[in-house]
Amino acid sequence: MHDPVTSDASQASGVLIVTGASRGIGAACARAGAHAGYRVVVNYARSRDAALGVVADIERAGGSAMAVRADVSQLSQVEHLFAETDRHFGSVTALINNAGIGGAIVPIEDHTPQSLNDLFFTNVYSCIHCAGAAIRRMSPRYGGSGGVIVNISSAAARLGGIAGMVAYAASKGAVDSFTVGLAKEVGKEGIRVVGIRPGMIATDILEPIGGAALMREVAPSIPLGRVGQPEEIANAAIWLLGSGASYVHGTTIDVSGGR
Ligand code: NAP
Repeated sequence: MHDPVTSDASQASGVLIVTGASRGIGAACARAGAHAGYRVVVNYARSRDAALGVVADIERAGGSAMAVRADVSQLSQVEHLFAETDRHFGSVTALINNAGIGGAIVPIEDHTPQSLNDLFFTNVYSCIHCAGAAIRRMSPRYGGSGGVIVNISSAAARLGGIAGMVAYAASKGAVDSFTVGLAKEVGKEGIRVVGIRPGMIATDILEPIGGAALMREVAPSIPLGRVGQPEEIANAAIWLLGSGASYVHGTTIDVSGGR
């Protein structure tokens, strides 16, 4: 039976927005999404050249993509992101809420209202704002015909985060709760909501906490004995978007090498 709930990657007809897709996990998701057949919106906040590089890679490989600058922690810029998507590619059918920051690396008592705002606006409000904008396009209440939302969380939500990153862990815990609750709210409208908790993945986000040295130090404690690559998160995300995951809903999967 055809399942109208899911956007089927193999049909090559969906519109995918990946937030924070200029670098790291988001860039890998954008490339993998295009390879699966989506027209891909490569969102970025600051790294314009990198975002244009991702678009160029996708187009060179025969795919379709465009870059849209929007700070997704800000509702007005999220509205701009989705309006640009409507204008150029049509209504979004798949969203990967990936944009995120590690935030200030400090003992919890040294966080300031500003540092916490930066963290929670970027890691949590962005997911809520983008999901809201997507639901206005995916839900039959607004004339839509369903879709899939993937929220990128972190193993930190489960483990509590490494030293100095407790607030980051808490922000990702909020993302996990959001995935569970939103799935209940919109599941019957043909919108699947799922999450991924990446373990330690080799990207720029690790630079402020030690980069390559940290990865070497942590690798032996990971059951698979190594850190992950952005493409390994992207593979899971694209599977979750597709019809192969049609009954996966309201849950967050660990892609963490066993960590
Ligand atoms: P990254 O390499 O630092 O890339 C972060 C991306 O997010 C960049 O494209 C950046 O764009 C974008 N971004 C940041 N703030 C934004 C904003 N306000 N609006 C729009 N885009 C914004 O990080 P990553 O490791 O790929 O992380 C991606 C996600 O995975 C994050 O949610 C992170 O928490 C999560 N995660 C990562 C790991 C890991 O070990 N790498 C582990 C668990 C979870 P600009 O450069 O244009 O600002």
